[in-house]
Amino acid sequence: MDSNLDPWGSLQVKDYKKMREEFGIEPFNFDLNDNKMARRNLIVGQRDFWRIREAIERKDKFAAMTGLMPSGDMHLGSKAIIEQMIYFQQKGAEVYIAVADLESYATRNISLEKARSIAIENFLLNYIALGLKKCHFYFQSTNSRVQKFAFVLSKEVTFSEMKAIYGFDESKRMLELNSPIIQASDILSPQIYGEPMPTIVPVGADQDPHIRLTRDISGRMDIIKVKKNGNGLMFSIGGNDPPEPVFQIIGKISEKLKFKISRKNAKYRTAEVENFEGDLYELELQIAKMERSLNVNATIAPSSMIMRLETGIRGGKMSKSVPDSTISLNDTTVEADKKIRRALTGGRESVEEQKKLGGNPYICPVFELYMYHLSREDKDLKKVEEECKSGVRLCGSCKIEASELMKQFLIELKEKRENSRHLIKDYMENE
Ligand code: SF4
Repeated sequence: MDSNLDPWGSLQVKDYKKMREEFGIEPFNFDLNDNKMARRNLIVGQRDFWRIREAIERKDKFAAMTGLMPSGDMHLGSKAIIEQMIYFQQKGAEVYIAVADLESYATRNISLEKARSIAIENFLLNYIALGLKKCHFYFQSTNSRVQKFAFVLSKEVTFSEMKAIYGFDESKRMLELNSPIIQASDILSPQIYGEPMPTIVPVGADQDPHIRLTRDISGRMDIIKVKKNGNGLMFSIGGNDPPEPVFQIIGKISEKLKFKISRKNAKYRTAEVENFEGDLYELELQIAKMERSLNVNATIAPSSMIMRLETGIRGGKMSKSVPDSTISLNDTTVEADKKIRRALTGGRESVEEQKKLGGNPYICPVFELYMYHLSREDKDLKKVEEECKSGVRLCGSCKIEASELMKQFLIELKEKRENSRHLIKDYMENE
């Protein structure tokens, strides 16, 4: 396992268990039966997803955040993320989508005008066609609030931290250092310019470093930190100002949520609760809201849902920088068909061998197409899997079927895109 997950690289993650252990990611053990990706075990980890589950169950306010880099066509890997955003929108989330046009300008030399047109034509139109309803869709280059807040956040981050999280060395340009901070600002700004609330960020496993950085920053800005301490809680107060006003705030929260402070220590700036059987979700929200009265940029640390990276159809990570490895949502049906026919498979050397021993769907990029995109029903996917393993299904006919399903999908999507064009203006936040 590489000791750094690289959001900009093309390496595929080989061992998700090891990844979780190495980066402190929790497994995804939530029962999300109405979520196709969860049912198909395509969610390989999470950070504090419990808050999102609580927000959904309580019908509380929460946000869902993602970004897009306008540097080419939207491919199938990005579709999986947007489907999760649509899922959370249907569950009540306020959706925020940041267009990283400053980044594409700086790193890929794409003009802001061009980036704008790519973001709308190649991404937003597809998002709407896939079912995304009205949301906050904005461009980093015109969102002065996000830019200003990124400036504020930069005081919270040191170069050593960037080195530890991203594996940067001294040769890195300021741009590469700035870019994750702007993304952290994107993720936290719905709370900063609104009220503290849980935020879910669905990401591919390679994007976890951004989540780690943002969560660290979020924790650092809090003045009241609370953690479980056996059966109780331990509050610690940051900063250098006299802690009394903060003790008062903790006292008010304890009255409201009906728990008892057992000890306070002004010297060590701590307060203890021996037994806490209360509502941790509500406690965190109350703390963050009260901290605002002290002019603190308090936020609830963002939660993440980490998705298994889709394999490119020629192997490796599915990425728009390797056009042959992925199918773009704007590909023609002929182009998509050509790519599927040239895809790697988990098939055997010969037809005879495959009939006898069966194929291996678990290393097959074509099977992944069925799993992520083509099999609408779980039973259809099961059928492909069983037929492959038993040798009833052969790779040639399997690819033809995949290509036919992809064709139907692309034709329908194109039609929906054209019918969605008039809605674009409703999605533009800063216009
Ligand atoms: S039969 Fe289909 S799923 Fe099985 S290895 Fe071949 S292409 Fe993959």
